[in-house]
Amino acid sequence: MPLHVISHPLASILITQLRDKDTSGESFRTGCRKITQLLMIEASRSITTKQIAVTTPLEETEGTSWATDLTIIPIIRAGIAMVEPTIELFPNAVVGYVGLERDEETAIARNYYRKVPSLKGRKAFIVDPMLATGGSILQTIEICLEEGTEDITVVTIISAPEGVEAIQSIHPEIPVYTAVLDRELNDQKYILPGLGDFGDRLFNT
Ligand code: URA
Repeated sequence: MPLHVISHPLASILITQLRDKDTSGESFRTGCRKITQLLMIEASRSITTKQIAVTTPLEETEGTSWATDLTIIPIIRAGIAMVEPTIELFPNAVVGYVGLERDEETAIARNYYRKVPSLKGRKAFIVDPMLATGGSILQTIEICLEEGTEDITVVTIISAPEGVEAIQSIHPEIPVYTAVLDRELNDQKYILPGLGDFGDRLFNT
């Protein structure tokens, strides 16, 4: 699977801010917004564009427009943090939602909500900040396939090798963009060194 780890000092600085247990909820959300935009700028490199005409105050010239319609699919709850910064970059993107709840004992995700429009002819960006076991993202990939697209890209902030492998073994063709590849999962399936529970940090719970 094409795994793209963003290599940029700003990404490393923002990850440090997110990891720090003393970072306030407000700074955590700001850091999340910035790193999501960095990730989306990288992840959108491969989206097809088309030439269009544009008229400047002086003359007509060639311009660029997206040639592919986008759908953003956040996995609730943590993925919600990545929606606003993404649609700021892609204002015409459609947003679909998948709700998955992790059983704290088994770490297996249960799908309790699904509001995903047809994805026929569209590119899907699955956004979820923490790629741990890969279970939630694999379930969401299946939903995207059911809704009619194979043009799927996963965008995540921190990834564990176990989660990357899980996706790679089943969908080697799906690119994953991440800001950092961490060391491992602990017994509770949290990413180490990670940043703790992303949703708790985000929503002050
Ligand atoms: N989800 C989180 O919020 N944190 C982890 O470390 C793993 C999954």
